[in-house]
Amino acid sequence: MNGPAEPFKIKVVEPVNLPSEKRRKEAIREAGFNTFLLLSEDVYIDLLTDSGTSAMSDNQWAGMMLGDEAYAGSKNFYNLENAVKDILGFKYTVPTHQGRGAEHLMYSHLVKPGQIVPRNMYFTTSKVHVELPGGKMVDMIIDEAHDPENTHPFKGNVDFNKLQGYIDEYGVDKISFVNVEMDVNMAGGQPVSMENLRKLREFCDDYKLKIIYDATRSSENAYFIREREKGYENTPIIEILREMMSYSDGCIYSSKKDCLVNIGGFLATNNEEIFEATRSSVVIYEGLHTYGGMAGRDMEAVARGLQEGAQYKYLKYRINQVRYLGELLMKAGVPIVKPIGGHAVFLNALKFLPHLSREQWPAQTLSAAIYEDSAVRTMERGAVSKGRDSQTGENIFPALELVRLTIPRRVYTNTHMEYTANSIINLYKKRDSISGLKMVYEPKYLRFFQARFEQIPL
Ligand SMILES: *Cc1c(COP(=O)(O)O)cnc(C)c1O
Repeated sequence: MNGPAEPFKIKVVEPVNLPSEKRRKEAIREAGFNTFLLLSEDVYIDLLTDSGTSAMSDNQWAGMMLGDEAYAGSKNFYNLENAVKDILGFKYTVPTHQGRGAEHLMYSHLVKPGQIVPRNMYFTTSKVHVELPGGKMVDMIIDEAHDPENTHPFKGNVDFNKLQGYIDEYGVDKISFVNVEMDVNMAGGQPVSMENLRKLREFCDDYKLKIIYDATRSSENAYFIREREKGYENTPIIEILREMMSYSDGCIYSSKKDCLVNIGGFLATNNEEIFEATRSSVVIYEGLHTYGGMAGRDMEAVARGLQEGAQYKYLKYRINQVRYLGELLMKAGVPIVKPIGGHAVFLNALKFLPHLSREQWPAQTLSAAIYEDSAVRTMERGAVSKGRDSQTGENIFPALELVRLTIPRRVYTNTHMEYTANSIINLYKKRDSISGLKMVYEPKYLRFFQARFEQIPL
């Protein structure tokens, strides 16, 4: 291990069970080879997602008991609003039940039919919430991000030539806003540099374009800035976060990640017009503007979690635990996305299973095979997640066909990481024996959640 030991000790434990080989085989078939459809009790180590899976601290649990469940004006909302001011520097906060609630309010307000939204790589729910009001998300991430082997330290960066290309091709009026994700999930948890954010602000000011962040993993992004960007080596994380946010017109935020809670979200801005519009629509879709779909106790946990998740000591432990798992795999020659990202290790399924065609969904196949081998639950992040082209209806096969091993925050020990790595290394040794899948059920929206597959005999 190369990182620091855990900056906490364990007060409460939850037993987990390793199901038998027979049960694992049955369970993955019952789930249509889709790990989203597995019962959680059939899972031993759950690396499906880092979303809503964090362990809360004693401080957060204590805060839950101070939930003010008034319908209007709950004091926990004001605590949340103050935490957002302190950590992110935004004056206005609109609470939502989770991140996609905030995306819905923000994007349906900003996007007009026929407009495009350039973004440093799509995210599933973000893409849908741009498409529903008639927009289209287009990619503006640097090319390095599409290459799993490239070790660029800030693979989440915006490529200004691509952005300029969209402006030239569509005209500024057709650009709804510029969307920047922090610590880009679909690229492998890869950060954006402060320099890139600063330049983007200047660039967008010239065209009077708004910049909206998907700030969901901004604290982890801030850690990477401190670790990798010259001039920030000793800057407190909160100062880094505030500078990052100062280059935007607002953000959406899924609290289920860096805020170390199980549910919640918000949007935040200093822009009065955005605030007015979204505070007005929140009451239709989420709830009153002082709870937005969260209980008072949940808002308190988010407020405290936003603070805790921005502590340098915690982030250092967090990022290094993810790195530990990634390095175990890399040392054994397993193909993973480099550099190792903030919230997850991504397996390169195209290299892991080169004998499968794209139509046999290599990442979906690998994710199911890992479960069957070890009861470790992972997630496909490739063509199944990407979906179909909204205009042509064709499957899109993105350059990255990945399996994500997402590490919940403060939940698993390094022994769990070692068990996971050993299983995947074993599977890699017998990779030729893994047969592909065909999709036999495809839902209309966000198909990766509910699609079902059958095994194609080798
Ligand atoms: C999770 C996530 C969302 C959506 O948030 P939910 O809380 O799951 O609704 C949006 N953007 C990114 C980058 C995410 O990781």
